[in-house]
Amino acid sequence: MTQLPVLNLSSSATATIGDGRRASLPPRHLADLDLAGRRAAVVDLGEQAFRAGQVSAHYFGRLVRDPAEMTDLPAGSRATIAEALLPALLHPVSELSTDDGATRKTLWRLHDGSLVESVLMGYPDRVTVCVSSQAGCGMACPFCATGQAGLTRNLSTAEIVDQVVWFAAMAARGELPGCPDRLSRVVFMGMGEPLANYNRVIAAVRRLTDPAPEGLGLSQRHITVSTVGLVPAMRRLTSEGLSVTLALSLHAPDDDLRDTLVPVNQRWKVAEVLDAAFEYAARTGRRVSIEYAMIRDVNDHPWRADLLGRLLSGRLAHVNLIPLNPTPGSKWDASPKPVEREFVRRLRAAGVATTVRDTRGREIDGACGQLAASSGGKVGERQDGLLARRANEETQ
Ligand code: SAH
Repeated sequence: MTQLPVLNLSSSATATIGDGRRASLPPRHLADLDLAGRRAAVVDLGEQAFRAGQVSAHYFGRLVRDPAEMTDLPAGSRATIAEALLPALLHPVSELSTDDGATRKTLWRLHDGSLVESVLMGYPDRVTVCVSSQAGCGMACPFCATGQAGLTRNLSTAEIVDQVVWFAAMAARGELPGCPDRLSRVVFMGMGEPLANYNRVIAAVRRLTDPAPEGLGLSQRHITVSTVGLVPAMRRLTSEGLSVTLALSLHAPDDDLRDTLVPVNQRWKVAEVLDAAFEYAARTGRRVSIEYAMIRDVNDHPWRADLLGRLLSGRLAHVNLIPLNPTPGSKWDASPKPVEREFVRRLRAAGVATTVRDTRGREIDGACGQLAASSGGKVGERQDGLLARRANEETQ
């Protein structure tokens, strides 16, 4: 059997980052804990348990993280509690924006120097944030920029949650013109394979969906978890009783091709991965989203559309075609529009609901598969029409 690329399904938290230092999980933050855990932590500090609810209401309810603004806490307790439960986790390095400010990509430096990116997408009726669940990714899909550098480490629960809270605060301050001031959707489609960091991602989903002050109070239905198809983890997700949307990055309906486009297919084949997805759909009643990047002359043949149509016909699934986004050094292009239209036509003829993703953020390397989290001199060297500004570091 072919040796698979790094398939790090364990919860190992350390890896060597670029300069040889060990990457490690960050200090504990209140978003790592449920409310009971936060109460215990506050009591450990010699404070009264109900202070945990107060500080949680600031962070999740008011989207406030500055202890000076927590005036219902005694002045003497604020610093102690903030130091123990609200360490700064995400340090903004740069922000790129396009679509008149409605699409923004932030590059964050984590406490150990690891870099990750998040993308905000504002629409007239909703605000969506695309979060990273790992620094880097071990899945090695050849068409995805994130996969090229390998996995640095898993993100902690709070590092995931804080990406959302950060943007929710930005929306609440009215900084997204023409968009609602409430962030409502989260997609785990940034850097990393969410199901390879299973426990922390599930805890993050709970924090995002628990009502304030325990969590951010988003609807489970407005959260999408995307996976390359780690079958045991998909089955585990099915048993959680959550009603998040599951997206499966399929990209090929046949094992021969999928073995190369999504190397984890060497371990879990198309039939098995689709079975696990259909089981999730059956258990939750939620339609699964089948992600399919359209790559010219690679996976866009009419016979592949027909095969995909047969595999999905009559199932609780819809296909989301993603025109391939360019990545550095890749020899592949997006399929020509007529080829894409024929692919859509054949899928629909087979009775499969199909949409083509409105890809946002390509000009800022913020679209699907383009997140590489490199800071090297890119900011300020962008084409016209882009606002590229260096955010103040250490603003937290
Ligand atoms: N690891 C998870 C989460 C990342 S989601 C997953 O793969 O599902 C990012 C989505 O963008 C995935 O569907 C991925 O396959 C897709 N993608 C990656 N590179 C792309 C590219 N260059 N163009 C278009 N889509 C891409």
